[in-house]
This record gives sequence, C-alpha cells and structure tokens, in this order.
Amino acid sequence: MKVIDHLNAAKDTLFSFEILPPLKGANIQSIYDGIDPLMEFKPKYINVTYHREEFIYKEREKGLLEKIAIRKRPGTVGICAAIMNKYYVDAVPHLICGGFSREETENALIDLQFLGIDNVLALRGDSIKTESTFKPDPEGHKYAVELINQISEMNKGNYLVDDIQLAPTDFCIGAAGYPEKHFEAMNLSTDLQYLKSKVEAGAEYIVTQMFFNNQKYFDFVDACRAIGITVPIIPGIKPITTLNHISFLPKVFHIDLPEELSKDLIKCKSNKDVFEVGVAWGIHQSQELKKANVPGIHYYTMSTSESVKAIAEQIF
Ligand code: FAD
Repeated sequence: MKVIDHLNAAKDTLFSFEILPPLKGANIQSIYDGIDPLMEFKPKYINVTYHREEFIYKEREKGLLEKIAIRKRPGTVGICAAIMNKYYVDAVPHLICGGFSREETENALIDLQFLGIDNVLALRGDSIKTESTFKPDPEGHKYAVELINQISEMNKGNYLVDDIQLAPTDFCIGAAGYPEKHFEAMNLSTDLQYLKSKVEAGAEYIVTQMFFNNQKYFDFVDACRAIGITVPIIPGIKPITTLNHISFLPKVFHIDLPEELSKDLIKCKSNKDVFEVGVAWGIHQSQELKKANVPGIHYYTMSTSESVKAIAEQIF
C-alpha cells in the first residue's frame, strides 16, 4: 500500500521509522533485531536508507595507489523485500541520484516493482567524501526533482526508450524537506521553491530532516503552505543518545540544538545521561507534534531501536 494512502486513511498520527542497512557481512537477523522491538507500535511503513559507494586508495607496488570503490552498506532493496515478507508492513526504499545513470535508475525501479514495493523516497544523495560538491553520474540526475520526474514518467508508462508500449508503474513518491534549510541552499526561500518543484514533479508527501525545535517545523509547514505546497509534511525525529551525537548531529545534518536542550546536554557525563536527556526531549517533541495533529512522526533509528521504543511507549 502507498504511504499516501496510509496517511489519508489514518485517523490519528502515524508511527513510522527509518533503518540503515547494516555494515557489509551482517546477518539479516541484525535487521530483525532492530525492527522487532518497534513492531508493537504498528508502523504502517518502514524506510530503508540507501548508501552509495565510497572510494578508498590501496597502496600497490612501487608506491602506486589504486582507487577502489566500496559500498559499506549495500542491500537496501533486499532488506525492503525481507521486511515486507516477514512483517507484512510496507517498506520504503530510498533511491538516490548519486552514482546512478538514468538507465540504472530505471532498472532499479523495475526491480522494486517486481518485488511489489509501492513506495520510493526520492533523494539526491550527498557528495562522496573525496568530492567537495555533489557530482552526478554523467548519465544521471543532478537534483532530486529530475529523479522524481523520471519516476513520474514511468508511472505514466514513459520509459527511457519508448519504441514499445510498456505498462506504467505506480509508485508513491516521497521527497525530503529541510525545516532549517538544506545546507547548500542560498536561503530558505529558494530551498522552498525547489521543494515545491519536487511536489509539482510528482512527490505526494514530504519527510523532513531531523529537527530539535518544533517551532522550526511549524514555521516550515506555514512557509510551505504559503507558497502552495499542500501535500502532507511528516516531521522526522532523531533522539540524541550518545555524547558523540552532541557534535556529530549538528555537523553532519546541519541542524541546531535548542538552548534549553543544550543546557541539559552540557551536564551529561556519560552516554547513559545523554540517553535519558535525549529520550525525554524526544517524548516532549513527539507529544507536542501529536497534539498539533501532524500526519505522522517518522523516527530516525540509526540502527538502534531502544530510544525510539522508549519514546513510542509514551506516544503511540
Ligand atoms: P535536492 O532536492 O536535489 O536539493 C539539493 C540542493 O539543491 C538543495 O540545496 C536545493 O535547494 C537545491 N536544488 C534543488 N533543486 C534545484 C534545482 N532545480 N536547481 C538548483 N538548485 C536546486 N542521503 C542518502 O545518501 N541516502 C539516504 O537514504 C538518505 N535519506 C534521507 C532521508 C531524509 C528524510 C532526508 C531529509 C535526507 C536523506 N538523505 C539521504 C540526505 C540527502 O540525500 C541530502 O540531504 C542531499 O544533500 C539532498 O537531497 P535532496 O533530495 O533534498 O536534494
């Protein structure tokens, strides 16, 4: 079933979460171990992130360096299929522009369709570590809007080579939004116009980047509505759980931690202290969002379900 149909059918705020494929070599059980504790909250769908290749340099004879492409977390599509098969819950694979030609994108979508997957979260992806800015595949897409256009065209039966009549796909497309602005955007206003273009291209809902100040989400929704974005906007919530998160999350996700939260985090001496503060904050955020009747709350587990479970117990 499509995410948009779940949202339209819901009488209350929906619970959903995102998982990462485990590091290469891990067993499928490690994925189930992360999902099992959250199933009691009846997620309507589970997102699975996509991780593109990284490049490493290996030293060879005579001081020569060999550039090798590796993917540390492959398996998004297989995990989606396993989730749907085991839990009978919809899986939402993330699909990115980076590292994909248009043809590879088309083939990936055909695989998803054969697996009975109805949903795709369409993203650009970030630049790889060895590049300062995002570089698309020479035959691929530069922005998420182009990927969304390709999926929308397939939904109309328009494949890349249209010399034979092909059956249309029927994917529900989601897109990413940034309450605190995408870090590369000139300003929030241009970022919102590009977000609107993703909706016009076929995105039926938006999932936000994590934020820790609900007012930023509420202002973002107001700003979206003001320029004519009418689709559901699902808030993304990430509980802070380790001392490392305190600097890692702002650095990697380009978000601020509110003063009130930082005052408590500064006092933390251990991961256990941070976990308690982070979960309490996540509960507070989720209660306020639910009271505001948001369509769903989407939790970023980053592969550990304990904190999300502690929050969900109080909310769902
Ligand atoms: P876009 O919408 O293409 O925007 C990228 C930048 O370009 C923005 O600054 C925007 O303002 C600007 N822009 C957009 N369109 C245009 C245009 N036509 N002309 C000029 N400028 C334009 N990354 C992964 O690699 N794998 C994942 O699984 C993953 N999951 C994510 C899930 C969520 C909910 C979110 C919020 C992010 C996720 N990301 C993931 C990270 C995401 O790929 C990065 O944030 C990336 O830098 C931007 O992706 P986007 O789809 O928002 O890009």
